[in-house]
Amino acid sequence: MKHNFNAGPSILPRVVFEEASRAILDFNGTGLSILEIGHRTPLFEAVLQEAVSLVKELMQLKEDKEVLFLHGGASTQFFQLPMNFLSKETTAAYLDAGVWGSKAIKEAKLFGNVKVVASSKETHYDRIPDSYSVPDDAVYFHYTTNNTIEGTQMHAIPAVNIPLVADMSSDILSREMDFNRFDFIYAGAQKNIGAAGVNLVVANKGFLEKGNTGIPSMMEYRQHVANGSMLNTPPVFAIYVCLLTLRWLKSIGGVAAMEKINDQKASLLYNTLESLPIFHLPVAPQDRSLMNAVFTMKDPDLEASFLQACKEEGMVGVKGHRSVGGFRISLYNALPLSSVETLTALMKHFASKHG
Ligand code: PMP
Repeated sequence: MKHNFNAGPSILPRVVFEEASRAILDFNGTGLSILEIGHRTPLFEAVLQEAVSLVKELMQLKEDKEVLFLHGGASTQFFQLPMNFLSKETTAAYLDAGVWGSKAIKEAKLFGNVKVVASSKETHYDRIPDSYSVPDDAVYFHYTTNNTIEGTQMHAIPAVNIPLVADMSSDILSREMDFNRFDFIYAGAQKNIGAAGVNLVVANKGFLEKGNTGIPSMMEYRQHVANGSMLNTPPVFAIYVCLLTLRWLKSIGGVAAMEKINDQKASLLYNTLESLPIFHLPVAPQDRSLMNAVFTMKDPDLEASFLQACKEEGMVGVKGHRSVGGFRISLYNALPLSSVETLTALMKHFASKHG
């Protein structure tokens, strides 16, 4: 039995793996594989339509929202977004609270002016900067809701007077949130939504209409909207896996039910870590992420044997990101509470032996 704490691609519900593998051999009793049907067939159109309507339902989106499934990871959105909305004459505002956000900033600078409103880089992104002001004349304000590498999460939605943009790659659909407050949301699918290779984009129709022209067709959001995410061949299988994952989320009670389970998992893990003095939590407590818990050991010499103990229990993905070190436990939607129970039991046992 494996306990999969990978940061992404990461664990998906068992039922998703089962149904996806059946569809590879025989999609919906058609005698054809999902991998060999045309994307413009009614068969696939139904997949895409259901996926879009489940996103709208689960996120409780208003009528003015467009839902797109686009190619590439979230890193594509780092440049596609400013390519559509920024220019040499305008400025976009960014919050620099993690490695992924800083990559988004770097890409935006290729297209126009960037105002970094605040940064926690000096303290190795151990917190979310808490006092900053966002200029009213910027074309949008961009932030990362959950910093996957550093294990920080922004628990409140910032109040700004300009279009609000968020990279939600690592916490989308994990907690209740007023998604309608955002003008543009993007998320790589490979954590909470499905398989790698596709991005979910949720954006205001009015915001998209203001986008730049004269950019490559595949980059222009308006053209993707006009063609219903089928400007060219979409990542068919990745979208199908998203559909199965969204169905699963709905079946367990949607985002509200998911949040309760996620809270339970995160509380159990953080409470255990706090109760065991051999562990150290580098992140400011108010900014701790419910999706990625980062910790180190006060005695670095113990880290190798803790890693080995995890390995012996079938735990994968516990090592921290190479830029941070220590450990990172990802608690995405599909991770069962029982995996966290197994891990925390191991932590207690390990601490009693080495504490
Ligand atoms: N943003 C965040 C918050 C992420 O966690 C990641 C990937 N882990 C990315 C962006 C980049 O995603 P991709 O690898 O899909 O381009």
